Amino acid sequence: MPRTLDLLTDRVDLSPAELPAARIDALYVHVPFCFHKCHYCDFYSITRQTPERMDRFVDLLLTEADLWSAQRPRPSTIFFGGGTPSLLPLKAMRRLLTGLHDRLDLSAVDEWTIEVNPATADGDYLRMLRDAGVNRLSFGAQSFDLAELKTLERHHEPADVERSISLAREAGFERLNLDLIYAIPGQTMASWQRSLEAALALGVSHLSCYGLTYEPNTVIAVRKRLGRLTAIEDDVELQMLHVTRKRLAEAGFEAYEISNYAQTGQACRHNLAYWTGKNYIGLGPSAASHVDGHRFKNRQHLGDWESAVPGGSLPVVEHEILSADERIEERLMLELRLGRGVRWADYLADLRDKFATPLSHLKGLGLIAVDSDGFRLTEQGIDVADGVAAEFFAR
Ligand code: SF4
Repeated sequence: MPRTLDLLTDRVDLSPAELPAARIDALYVHVPFCFHKCHYCDFYSITRQTPERMDRFVDLLLTEADLWSAQRPRPSTIFFGGGTPSLLPLKAMRRLLTGLHDRLDLSAVDEWTIEVNPATADGDYLRMLRDAGVNRLSFGAQSFDLAELKTLERHHEPADVERSISLAREAGFERLNLDLIYAIPGQTMASWQRSLEAALALGVSHLSCYGLTYEPNTVIAVRKRLGRLTAIEDDVELQMLHVTRKRLAEAGFEAYEISNYAQTGQACRHNLAYWTGKNYIGLGPSAASHVDGHRFKNRQHLGDWESAVPGGSLPVVEHEILSADERIEERLMLELRLGRGVRWADYLADLRDKFATPLSHLKGLGLIAVDSDGFRLTEQGIDVADGVAAEFFAR
């Protein structure tokens, strides 16, 4: 169904006071600095930064947090992503954490995650994070095969991941995630299984396993177009997904989302907030926010964001107001990817009535299971999840 936008502008004068007074469940902070650009990455980040610019970045993040302070957001989860948040020097990161504590009510936070680069994890740094209230770390391991890391242009070695996990545990972290990628050019089923086993051997409680995607304008997509590398066949990628689901289930991990696996009670609550239609605010360039149907996105480029923040309005470049139907559809699309699926009771509208045709059609094809609680993808449906989601919107 084509999306209708009630409002889509490049206005820069949006103020939190103009938004509905709604509970903010989650806070995201985007730190846009990286050592170098990994060849598959399309997140916004820059690779040439100075300590002075990173210090100014912290100043401006705190200024942006100040814009929200009158609303007294009281998030339950915080996530620092990027970019590479751990690239902020220790003093700058400590100043950021302290500054957020001073400006926002963080007394309800029960999960605070920071993404850390395995190449540079350092004991003092991790202890400082733990002391400041961070209680979950996420490491971009991606693969335990050196050649595959090279294909992705990752600048760490498999041994760095093991070292990082040890340092994290010594610093007092129990909740640890590793990101892994499958369907990397040159990867075989055997090498993917070795990476999975290496990750399991480290005893982390959460794994994110994504199939490699060729986002337009990434180096890896260009190399593919030029014939310099060969993508893994779709059916092999699907087999890798099946192997992953089976092995991680045996190891006691629940596939609580198509790409995310956790031991009991270890699901990422922050991501669940995104996937279940909760309210979240984002600080930093390119960060997205959602407040009660108002969805908006910060200016993407660091320079633009830097010049907008001191102006006293949110540094917003896109703002749309979703209709009630659009909110339902958006939430349904995300919840369809959850292991527990879509629950009737979570919606004010009667989904059984609203989506009677696709529900009956997809059930007949064996792609979804429907019961008195709701509906969810079957194993067969997981293989064609995007197609199943499309059925709900092809009305
Ligand atoms: S470290 Fe992460 S954010 Fe930075 S370029 Fe690599 S994948 Fe992208």
